Amino acid sequence: MGLVPTMGSLHQGHLSLIERARRENALALVSIFVNPLQFGPQEDLARYPHTPEQDLHLCQQAGVDAVFMPTPEVFYGHRAPLATDITQVIPPRGMLAALCGPHRPGHFEGVTTAVTKLLSLVAPSRAYFGYKDAQQLAILKRLAKDLNLPGKIVGCPIVREASGLALSSRNVYLSATERQQAAALYRGLMAAQDHFKAGERHCSALVAAVRQELAQSSALRPQYVEVVNPETLLPLDSIETLGMLAVAAHLGDTRLIDNVLLRDRQPIVAIDGPAGAGKSTVARQVAQRLGLLYLDSGAMYRAVTWLALDRGVDVQDEVAIAELVQDCDLHLTASGDDPAFAAYPSRIWLNGQEVTQLIRSPGVTAQVSVVAAQPTVRETLLQQQQQYGVTGGVVMEGRDIGTEVFPQAELKIFLTASVAERARRRQRDLAAQQQSPVDLSELEQAIDERDRKDSSRRVAPLRQADDAIKLITDGLSIEGVVEEIVALYRERIER
Ligand code: AMP
Repeated sequence: MGLVPTMGSLHQGHLSLIERARRENALALVSIFVNPLQFGPQEDLARYPHTPEQDLHLCQQAGVDAVFMPTPEVFYGHRAPLATDITQVIPPRGMLAALCGPHRPGHFEGVTTAVTKLLSLVAPSRAYFGYKDAQQLAILKRLAKDLNLPGKIVGCPIVREASGLALSSRNVYLSATERQQAAALYRGLMAAQDHFKAGERHCSALVAAVRQELAQSSALRPQYVEVVNPETLLPLDSIETLGMLAVAAHLGDTRLIDNVLLRDRQPIVAIDGPAGAGKSTVARQVAQRLGLLYLDSGAMYRAVTWLALDRGVDVQDEVAIAELVQDCDLHLTASGDDPAFAAYPSRIWLNGQEVTQLIRSPGVTAQVSVVAAQPTVRETLLQQQQQYGVTGGVVMEGRDIGTEVFPQAELKIFLTASVAERARRRQRDLAAQQQSPVDLSELEQAIDERDRKDSSRRVAPLRQADDAIKLITDGLSIEGVVEEIVALYRERIER
C-alpha cells in the first residue's frame, strides 16, 4: 500500500503524489487531515482551505482506493489537542535550526507526531511527500530511519504553474495580482541557479541573487533565503557537490516557500530494459566510449559472495550474510587502458583489497545468485551504488536504475527489442555455446513469461521512466546501439 498524507484542498501537486503511489503500489491510500498540532497560535489553522467534497471527488477520479479523513477527535482523542498533553515526536535539533524551523516553533514536532501516528496506523510500503516541503521531507526521512517506522519515505518533484509558482493549497489566499508577484520566488531561485551553473559556489552570492530578484517586488517580504545540505539541513558556506537553496516570503497575509536543488556533478547514464536486450554489453561499451565508470552491480554482488566464501560463511544463511555485507566497503574504478584489466568492465576493491580477478572464480559464479537475491544485500549495496550518484560520472544498467536507483540521471535509456528478436538472439547464443538447439517459439514463450515476471515483481520491477528514451534495437548491431547512445549523450549533455 502507498500512503499520501495531505491536509486536503487537493491540487495537481497532490495528484502527482497520488499518481506515483498508484503506479508503485497495489493500493493507494490518501489521508486528509488538517493537523492542528503543526499550526502556531498566530498561524492560519482557522482559515485553512477546507474542500472535503471536492477532495473526495478528485481522489475518486484519480483512482484512490481509500481515503482516511479523521477529525482531530478521532486522530488525537481530543477536539483541540495540546502539544503538552500528548506524546510528541521531536526531530533532531540540528534539523530545526535552519529554514522554517526558527520561524515556526513547534511546527515540525506537530508534523512528525502526526506522521508517526499515520505510518504506525497504516503501515504502508511507501509514503509519498513533495520536495515542495523539503525541510519536512528531510526530517521525515530521518524520523522513519531513527524510529524504524514502517514504509519507505519517497520524495516527489515540485509541481508548478506556468509562471513557476509552486502549487500550494495556500495559493487560494492570493489575489490575481499577488499570484503574479509570487512568481518572483521561482525567478529568484532560477537566477541563482544560473549563477551556480556559471560556476558560482559561494552561498552568499547565490543568496544575494535571490534577494535581488525578490527586491523587485515591494509587496514580497522575504523571511529567509538560505543554502543548506539537503539531507542534514545544516547551513553551507559554499557548495561542493550539492546544496539546497530555499526561500520563504510573506505576500499580504500569505506565507510562501520554495526551493531548488543545486548540484555540481558529472552526468549519470541509466540504461534499463527487459532481459536479453543487450543492456550490459551496451552499458559497458558506452561507459568506455564516454570515459565514465561502468557501475557494475554484478561485480558488487560477486565481491560480497567472494568474501562469504573466503570467510567460510554459509551463503544461504541470510542473517550471517546480512552482517557480512555491513562490513563490505566496496570501491569501483573504470578499467582504463591497462591491458591487464581490459577484459573486466571495471576494477573493484573490497575493504582496500583489489578483488577484480578473484570475484570471477567458478565458486563465486556458482553462488552469486543466492547472495544477490537477499533483500538486505540488495538494500545495502543499493545505498553504496547511490553514493556514486553524488559525484556522478557513471553508467549503470538494470531494471529500475532510471526509476529508483538514479531517478536524477541526465540520460535515461530504455533499451528493448521485440520478443521475436530477443528469441532469435538467444537461439544464436545457444548455438555459439554448442548447446542443444531449442525451438524459437519455446524461447519466445520463455522470454514473454520473464518480461511479465520482471514487470510485476515486488522489488525493483521493470518499468520505463517517464523521461527515458526508448531504443528498440531490432535489426541494430551492438555497435549501432552504442553509437546512438553516445550521440544522444553528446547532443543532450555535452552541449
Ligand atoms: P499539504 O496538503 O500541503 O500538507 O501537502 C501534502 C503533500 O503534498 C506534502 O508532501 C507536500 O510536500 C506535497 N505537495 C504540496 N504541494 C506540492 C507541489 N506543488 N508539488 C509537489 N508536491 C506538493
